Amino acid sequence: MSKQETHGFQTEVKQLLHLMIHSLYSNKEIFLRELVSNAADAADKLRYEALTNNDLYEGEGELRVRISADKEKGTVTISDNGIGMTRDGVIEHLGTIAKSGTADFFKNMSGDESKDSQLIGQFGVGFYSAFIVADKVTVRTRAAGHSSDEGVLWESAGEGDFTVETITKPSRGTEITLHLREDEKEFADDFRLRSIVTKYSDHISVAVEMYEEGTPAVEATEEGGEAVPATEGSWKPMNKATALWTRNKSDISKDEYHEFYKHISHDYTDPLVWSHNRVEGKQEYTSLLYIPAKAPYDMWNRDRKHGLKLFVQRVFVMDDAEQFMPSYLRFVQGLIDSNDLPLNVSREILQDNKVTTSLRTAVTKRVLGMLEKLAKNDAEKYLSFWTEFGQVLKEGPAEDFANKERIAGLLRFASTHTGEATTNVSLGDYIERMQEGQTKIYYIVADSHEAAANSPHLELLRKKGIEVLLMSERIDEWLINHLTEFDGKQLHSVTRGDLELGELEDAGEKEAQEKLETESEGLVKRVKDSLGEKVSDVKVTTRLTDTPACVVAGEGEMSTQMIKLMQAAGQ
Ligand code: ADP
Ligand code: MG
Repeated sequence: MSKQETHGFQTEVKQLLHLMIHSLYSNKEIFLRELVSNAADAADKLRYEALTNNDLYEGEGELRVRISADKEKGTVTISDNGIGMTRDGVIEHLGTIAKSGTADFFKNMSGDESKDSQLIGQFGVGFYSAFIVADKVTVRTRAAGHSSDEGVLWESAGEGDFTVETITKPSRGTEITLHLREDEKEFADDFRLRSIVTKYSDHISVAVEMYEEGTPAVEATEEGGEAVPATEGSWKPMNKATALWTRNKSDISKDEYHEFYKHISHDYTDPLVWSHNRVEGKQEYTSLLYIPAKAPYDMWNRDRKHGLKLFVQRVFVMDDAEQFMPSYLRFVQGLIDSNDLPLNVSREILQDNKVTTSLRTAVTKRVLGMLEKLAKNDAEKYLSFWTEFGQVLKEGPAEDFANKERIAGLLRFASTHTGEATTNVSLGDYIERMQEGQTKIYYIVADSHEAAANSPHLELLRKKGIEVLLMSERIDEWLINHLTEFDGKQLHSVTRGDLELGELEDAGEKEAQEKLETESEGLVKRVKDSLGEKVSDVKVTTRLTDTPACVVAGEGEMSTQMIKLMQAAGQ
């Protein structure tokens, strides 16, 4: 049966195709990375499914990807013997974009090509990248476990629509042929392909092969040259084809770590740092964790998928296993390969599992350790991390009680010490600069950095040379509610009624205050009478030096900033 149907692409696919062709022209060769990456994923999926159904291998368990070119026809073909696709699968996967946040993504497009190409890199163009270099793409595929006559032929010129047709395909897997555009024929060249493949596929855990021609026989010569027999051509692997994380750290180059990151994250930017560890003993696992250089465009989208790739004994099990990473570290990318989980583990089993819990604890510590190390060794890089992900990390003290102190050590704030809006002062820095006799860490939360820096509440502390942390992000009030002390020192808001300066109070200050109170009784009464119910109390203070009056929160009451937050939330 060969019923040909024409289908229209989902609107987003059309948009993506258009944008891609116009903004990725300087990065054309990524199509090969994407297609090889998909082929490797297809091998991973087959390995996983075959755990419970060995028949899926159909007697061919040696998984590999093959790349070939035909110069005359101007085509490049990438074929794999992975899981393959059914007719429905083809229509779904090669006609729509299933990613969450797709609508968000297109809203973010500016029309500025350089910005958009950055964004598109983050989005991950995937299969559709074939159209960067091809004006027609043909896919022939057959799903593992289905019969030969359930093959599918998909074809499209990358404009509005595609066709699907049922065909006979004896070999399992997917074969993608790119009919190169007139000015992209250079890619139909073995040498060119080889150089791209070696660059992009060393970390891939399945063999990526190219055909090597044989050599003709050489006859013996009278001068004594020996005869060499002809060799046959054969498929030769272009990569090491061992899972990168199973190799020794010292044998893995920086470029390989970078490429692997791009493979698993769909990000085109190099990562900021990573940590690769093998743990043996009571618990056996390998983790490879990356901190991206840039926050994804949809970091604040609640439906955004996050989490690690999970492998069990080197077999890929699932993407986005969020159980291994607390939410405040949701920007971390990478994988965990456990020897202790069952191969048939499901998301439900992971939910409520001792191994999961202990892995999560261990992996969380690793990430915090990696960040501490970065902060210590490379302040500039740390600042760039902080700029991208600081707001997310600030959710930590509320979420992760056990690591509160370590997370707090990683936080950075603006401060009266620098006077700048840059958030680069740690609580540790603050403590080192504390005055003799000072026991508290002073801070202020306001709507903006300017409002914080110019607050009348700072006057007295300025005069005494006491540093104040200046907070002005939406999440700061929330943070400070959960972070009440650090290194044994309380965090104290300067907008509170009592500054509790303790020993920092000057000897004469108490008497001055008392004297002022008696002198001002009449004034205070008049102010109280006229404000009535609007305030709970009116007090004289020595705290202000330039400003005549200010509003403060009483001890145990909500701060003014918190009240604003509650009002904004409709309370
Ligand atoms: P992603 O890889 O991020 O899911 P792609 O656009 O690269 O997005 O691929 C879309 C989907 O098409 C894949 O998720 C997969 O289901 C299917 N697919 C693509 N290439 C292959 C292949 N070689 N074998 C099997 N399925 C594939
Ligand atoms: Mg892909």
